[in-house]
Amino acid sequence: MENNIKINKRGEKFLNFMKKYGYYILAALVIVAITLAVVLSTTSRGTDLNIDTQEPSKPVDAYALTFDLPLADCSVVIGHILDDVIYNESTGWFETHHGLDLVSETSNDVLAAAEGTVEEVYTSESEGTVVVIKHNDVYTSKYASLSDVTVKVGDTVTRGQKIGITSTSASYEVKTGAHLHFQLFMDENEVNPADYLNIEEK
Ligand SMILES: [Zn+2]
Repeated sequence: MENNIKINKRGEKFLNFMKKYGYYILAALVIVAITLAVVLSTTSRGTDLNIDTQEPSKPVDAYALTFDLPLADCSVVIGHILDDVIYNESTGWFETHHGLDLVSETSNDVLAAAEGTVEEVYTSESEGTVVVIKHNDVYTSKYASLSDVTVKVGDTVTRGQKIGITSTSASYEVKTGAHLHFQLFMDENEVNPADYLNIEEK
């Protein structure tokens, strides 16, 4: 009983207190709520502004890609010849030549002409062992007549990384001797690699 009375007394005190100051407390709570809402919205707006003012990421200029020689100190033995036919000693036919045949007196190491991802590795009778590297959405390079390939499909390669060595594995070009048959594709169309390499086409 005593406890109840105490509680009742406390309750009365509280009610009286609320009657006197309830509106002030309510008003104070509303002010606090409004202040919080304003602060929060200002903060989030501030964050948005920060995002808006961040520098846009630089567009990747895929066309700006440059290519290094895929074989050190190489020279062109047979050029990229599509508008004429030349006699191919290996096949005995007159043919066009898609790409460059490159030889070097100082090195047999075939190097990735630019950074990229190995898209294909295969061996065929005509082309020998081949590595195809996709550099970006635009450029792909192809290295044929290889042996001792050191990369596999899916590998990321760096510019100048060794991917194999020159050989006579391409039967259609066996009489050229150990060499690299190098092709370059832009948007899946063949381009003359000599236009992209610091090399003089024969
Ligand atoms: Zn060739």
